[in-house]
Amino acid sequence: MNVEQRLHRINSSIEQACKNAGRSPEDVKVVAVTKYVSIERAEEAVTAGITHLGENRDTGLTEKFEAIGNRVDWHFIGSLQTRKVKQIIDKVSYIHSLDRHSLAVEIDKRADKPVNCFVQVNVSGEESKHGITPEETSGFIQSLQELENISVIGLMTMAPHTEDEAFLRSCFRSLRGLQEEVKALGLPHAPCTELSMGMSNDFHIAIEEGATFVRIGTALVGND
Ligand SMILES: *Cc1c(COP(=O)(O)O)cnc(C)c1O
Repeated sequence: MNVEQRLHRINSSIEQACKNAGRSPEDVKVVAVTKYVSIERAEEAVTAGITHLGENRDTGLTEKFEAIGNRVDWHFIGSLQTRKVKQIIDKVSYIHSLDRHSLAVEIDKRADKPVNCFVQVNVSGEESKHGITPEETSGFIQSLQELENISVIGLMTMAPHTEDEAFLRSCFRSLRGLQEEVKALGLPHAPCTELSMGMSNDFHIAIEEGATFVRIGTALVGND
């Protein structure tokens, strides 16, 4: 299957998941994760109609950005070293991995306008996963108030690698619960209307649980 055919299949799954949940497919955006693949493959995704591309390293982002430019919105989805912020800040529209205060300070300093940020939360509690704990989430977001270039548009999580649907669902549902908590604070710098969750193997579940951005690599562009 080429990228266009894969996108067609993914869009059908998205429609089905939205139908199951009584949601509108327009409320779900696909971020094509191109970290494993060539510029040519990323171009293929853009030709197929993708308008959001995600990369998890500054080098990959820069390389693809130079070829594709502002025809799409760029998402930084990987763990972000503070010293790399300056390489990506003028290219990205979204950062999905805000997980510490020092990183927020650096983003705030380097940006010349508010940056759409997702706070990354480790809802599964797996040691290998980045992100702050659920308990820290509200306090962390409140602590970003004075940083005028940080806009917390939502929360992000990476679910564990498991076939256990019930567990995956509970992870996504926890993130949704936290989102509601943050939204209820009514903080001007943290509207928190978005949820970045769901990857190739679990995006249908994430959408049923409220995802507004799904990050899809393998199932869309492959991984070679
Ligand atoms: C690689 C990656 C993805 C995409 O993973 P697939 O399983 O290939 O869809 C999504 N989100 C993050 C943060 C990633 O690093």
